[in-house]
Amino acid sequence: MCAVPLVGESPVSRIVYVNGQFLPRAHASVSIEDRGYQFSDGVYEVCLFLNGKPLDFHLHMDRLDRSLAALSINPPMGRGAFKVVMDQMMRRNRLRDATIYLQITRGVARRDHAFPAFPPAPAIVMAAQRFNVAALREKQKAGVAVISTPDLRWKRCDIKTVSLLGNVLAKQAAREAGALEGWMVDAQGFVTEGSSSTAWIVDQQGRLRTRRLAKDILPGITRHVVGDIAANAQIAPVEEPFTIAEAQSAKEAFIASTTSSVTPVTQIDGVPVGDGTPGPVTRDLIDRHWRHVLRETGYRL
Ligand code: PMP
Repeated sequence: MCAVPLVGESPVSRIVYVNGQFLPRAHASVSIEDRGYQFSDGVYEVCLFLNGKPLDFHLHMDRLDRSLAALSINPPMGRGAFKVVMDQMMRRNRLRDATIYLQITRGVARRDHAFPAFPPAPAIVMAAQRFNVAALREKQKAGVAVISTPDLRWKRCDIKTVSLLGNVLAKQAAREAGALEGWMVDAQGFVTEGSSSTAWIVDQQGRLRTRRLAKDILPGITRHVVGDIAANAQIAPVEEPFTIAEAQSAKEAFIASTTSSVTPVTQIDGVPVGDGTPGPVTRDLIDRHWRHVLRETGYRL
């Protein structure tokens, strides 16, 4: 049997989970006939654990259920079992603050585009990565730069599939431009989202704006949570798309995701947003989001 070793360097966890087994990463392997490898026929989630506790666990699991259902892949285990394996991953890798990457593919089958007539067992992999809160805090204080880049992705970006080439190219374009994130722009000139985060502005009228949920963006967990937090703070978001020019002339801008929480955007395509420093609405949402983290995980900054 041919197998591809899952190799790489730390800070990725030493112990990974592959199809029911906890293994040293260097000894873990998946089949080259896994449909995730050949067709990107699979889905994933990234859960953040702080203080050893998951953040928004059920929201992530709800989205995982939706992603699996969209591809007609049967969940390989129940929610309780996912939690047990994730807790084990944290414990076995001696981690307290970490992301857990969870990937489920349709499984291994002779190469043929259509689903196998007899569904194989879904393949499940988990790997943990130490999470650097201090590095996030630095970005939250200083703000980050983003660049615009065309949205090259397929038409079901609402499914969290491992098919991420458009996102990869957007992030790489950002990296080459010295920016943290690529804001992808649709054919009409509106920002869809970042390569791995949702995109937000506080427009010139002071309205908090982000794109509506549809098939062209991922329903971000942090988008959902920040939307609720903002509504409770009397700044309910308006779901209205914006152009790069509008974002450049906005009062404030930020990105939101599991690993970036709320992070201010202070430059877009080289143009400063507002006075080029994180604005008051963004800073308030950052504080409120950390309070949400404290309530959920007990993690105190
Ligand atoms: N959009 C895309 C394309 C992403 O990859 C991510 C990160 N998962 C997000 C948005 C943010 O989603 P979440 O808040 O669930 O991390």
